[in-house]
Amino acid sequence: MTFNALVVEKDADSGKTTAAVQALAETDLPDAEVTVAVEYSTVNYKDGLCIGPGGGLVRRYPHVPGIDFAGTVEASDDARYKPGDKVVLTGWRVGEAHWGGYAQKARVRADWLVPLPDGLDTRAAMAVGTAGLTAMLAVMALQDHGLTPDKGPVLVTGAAGGVGSVAVAILSNLGFEVAAVTGRPEQEGYLRDLGARQIVPRAELTEVTRKPLEGEQWAGCVDAVAGAMLGRVLKQVKYGGSVAAIGLAGGAAIEGALITPFILRGVNLLGIDSVMQPYEARLRAWARIASDLPMDRLEAMVQPATLSDLPRLGAEILKGQVKGRVVVDVNA
Ligand code: NDP
Repeated sequence: MTFNALVVEKDADSGKTTAAVQALAETDLPDAEVTVAVEYSTVNYKDGLCIGPGGGLVRRYPHVPGIDFAGTVEASDDARYKPGDKVVLTGWRVGEAHWGGYAQKARVRADWLVPLPDGLDTRAAMAVGTAGLTAMLAVMALQDHGLTPDKGPVLVTGAAGGVGSVAVAILSNLGFEVAAVTGRPEQEGYLRDLGARQIVPRAELTEVTRKPLEGEQWAGCVDAVAGAMLGRVLKQVKYGGSVAAIGLAGGAAIEGALITPFILRGVNLLGIDSVMQPYEARLRAWARIASDLPMDRLEAMVQPATLSDLPRLGAEILKGQVKGRVVVDVNA
């Protein structure tokens, strides 16, 4: 019995990688406790790297990428899971150091799995994916630091991307006034449909300034961009507000950042990692997703795909050209 997978191979001489759908045998799968019949996966920035040049993330070739997936347990050597259980996996370097979800079967450690929460099916779980889980963790961190709708507007940067789209939908559903930063003005209608009340053109936040502070505008921010944008946003956050830093789509440095927002306005910079989140925190976040993310808005973000679309989509996400969330049906 074989199954289909997107396999990336590296040419030993040129160092170039190529990705194509191949038939694999179960004996090809890595050793681990739980075999999952994968139903859906998705496309994240890291997947773009792992489908293509590797970005230093992939250790061994041939490699099966896919940093997240949802499916049904087929076999388990661990008492926590039995055949038929619906599960979701994000993080733990699956799809990078370990074979991932771009396949009809995956074999992974039981510790890495989370039971699918009530109210989400496997397709919806991947419409959410790592991006949505990260957005939820960011919103939870902002709320834990006192963010409430009466405090004022909340900024979301990289808003038309995966994390940004889900953050906009969750925050607006929770009653926050959301301002969405985008470099794609043609996505204004999409962002307003997700619940954004204000659109901020990316160009307004990309100039590096040496000003110690700017006018107080945002009660909080979910930032997927970093770079010059995070340097500017920190200076615009209201007294006592927080920024949840989740990504680096605009660069790894925080350009133009000064200490002034922290020591004169008590601004908090909250780091969000989804990869190594403990099990209990994942459970809490998935339960909040099931309750706080309206499914009709989630569906509006979805672009369907198959395994053979992945080489193209991987290249597109590296160029910031993917809108919202891609859901890969690995059996299509
Ligand atoms: P996407 O590519 O879907 O979205 C990123 C968005 O950022 C783009 O859609 C674009 O939004 C904006 N953007 C892209 N390039 C630039 C630029 N040069 N300057 C300003 N804005 C830019 O990626 P994801 O949403 O999946 O991930 C976002 C970031 O979060 C990535 O850096 C990713 O690695 C990281 N990440 C971190 C996780 C964690 O655990 N902390 C988990 C998941 C992702 P627009 O077109 O609206 O301007």
